[in-house]
Amino acid sequence: MSEFASTERLVRAHFRHTTSYKHVQSIEALSSEAGLPPESIIKLDGNENPYGCAPSVNQALFEHEFYHIYPDNEQRQLRQALEKYTGVPARRILAGCGSDEMIDLVVKLLLDPGDIVINFVPTFSMYSYAAENSAGRVLDMHRDENFVIDTARAVEAAIDQKAKLIFLASPNNPTGNITPREDIMRLLKTGTIVVLDEAYYEFSGETALDLVNAFDNLIILRTFSKWAGLAGLRIGYGIFPDVLMPYLWRIKTPYTVNKAAQIAAIISLQERAYYQKTIKALIQERDRMLELLSSIPNFTPYPSRANFVLCRVAGGRAKSIHDALISNGISLRYFDSPKLHDYLRISAGKPEHTDALIAALRRIC
Ligand SMILES: *Cc1c(COP(=O)(O)O)cnc(C)c1O
Repeated sequence: MSEFASTERLVRAHFRHTTSYKHVQSIEALSSEAGLPPESIIKLDGNENPYGCAPSVNQALFEHEFYHIYPDNEQRQLRQALEKYTGVPARRILAGCGSDEMIDLVVKLLLDPGDIVINFVPTFSMYSYAAENSAGRVLDMHRDENFVIDTARAVEAAIDQKAKLIFLASPNNPTGNITPREDIMRLLKTGTIVVLDEAYYEFSGETALDLVNAFDNLIILRTFSKWAGLAGLRIGYGIFPDVLMPYLWRIKTPYTVNKAAQIAAIISLQERAYYQKTIKALIQERDRMLELLSSIPNFTPYPSRANFVLCRVAGGRAKSIHDALISNGISLRYFDSPKLHDYLRISAGKPEHTDALIAALRRIC
């Protein structure tokens, strides 16, 4: 037997059955695939904010003089600013390298091998990815034809199977719909820890933040990647029950929130007027795009409370349309799974992005 095979046997058993995360393509990869310069790529596949961050954020990053010094591991200024923004005391807030790090931390802290995690599919794939990396068992509960969760069944499953965690995104990615507050409360009343992912809160305006005092099993996750245009700097945060905070600090890798990310997040929170304008523009563009997409043959766009639109494509053409658009320099997210067969998710962009997309779709379809 080769040396590699014997070394490979040392890998923890559950990792033989997990898969890597299916990330979106980088702008560099898209540019080389389409044979076009990076600046002419229309990237509508990652729900990023095409307006970018406020100019004063870039200015502050440029002027900062202490990049040779480690960042504040306690994130004091940032957590103070988040206390002001959320109204939740800083001692209950922890920031991470994207909210992805917070998802990872939660499963690392709470899951023993074999523990049950409830997941409402189709949804953000990080939940099952992270849970499986911690040898958790993911119970996929299917959403209905309008992507609504079956709360009664989830409550039953949480109790019967003694689930450790429930992951719920609202608005949900990739479907764009929100889960009503009553359903979130019913899930919380099971006593199972509910991780409510509010990555798109700034677009939907809907939050369960006011429930964090009433329920000590509620975790809320937020991010600067979508509304604040900071996806490339990797900064998100969580609001946690007081009792979990000492453990989270204990297990978190130090310095994962770098100095640039902390500065950018703090300034972003001071620039709410700037962001209100770009958020409003993206919401308007989302709704205009939805209208236009309805006029494309075989396209059924779903209403959305986030900064993207999910579209069903009849006739099995989603993949070929996706690929044809790539060669036109337009990148969308294509889904082909048993839960989402022949769907495209399209991020809201600038008006000229929508126009280019619709023109290309009219040519292709
Ligand atoms: C984009 C997204 C995130 C990831 O956020 P990062 O802060 O960039 O890691 C988390 N949750 C959902 C539902 C998302 O769509």
